[in-house]
Amino acid sequence: MRVGIGHDLHRLQPGGPLRIGGIDIPHDRNSIGHSDGDALLHAVIDALLGAAALGDVGLMFPDTDPENRGRDSAEMLTAALEAVAALGWRIANIDCIIFAQRPKLLPHRQTIRQRLADVLQIEVERVGLQAKTGEGIGAIGHEEAIAAQCVALLERLGIGD
Ligand code: MG
Repeated sequence: MRVGIGHDLHRLQPGGPLRIGGIDIPHDRNSIGHSDGDALLHAVIDALLGAAALGDVGLMFPDTDPENRGRDSAEMLTAALEAVAALGWRIANIDCIIFAQRPKLLPHRQTIRQRLADVLQIEVERVGLQAKTGEGIGAIGHEEAIAAQCVALLERLGIGD
């Protein structure tokens, strides 16, 4: 078994929608990024790559490569999943936290979990998702940024490690 951790933060700017967890949420701010700015999917990518000791999202998809501009992070996550699977690893579970002062994420929680499960080709029961505000302070609380964290556990069936 292998465990990996991922963390990401993106600055916010006026204008929606907010891209998070592979879906667009109606909101008055959006995430600035070289790709689609999806902090949660980038954290999941880093957790998977980290668990397999394959580096991180910046290594796999350099922001110096014009190909990655505006890129769909779900496509990047699929590529990361394939790289991990090529080494024989499959996902036991992931657990994620989104840090955002607004909007309320609870109404979107199941949609995001299902989207993650679909992209990762695992049962939704293997996808944990939590949401926290910034308690009105700091970059998160002042709605200057959105962040996400993810822990991933990988297993290699029948190999015993
Ligand atoms: Mg990112």
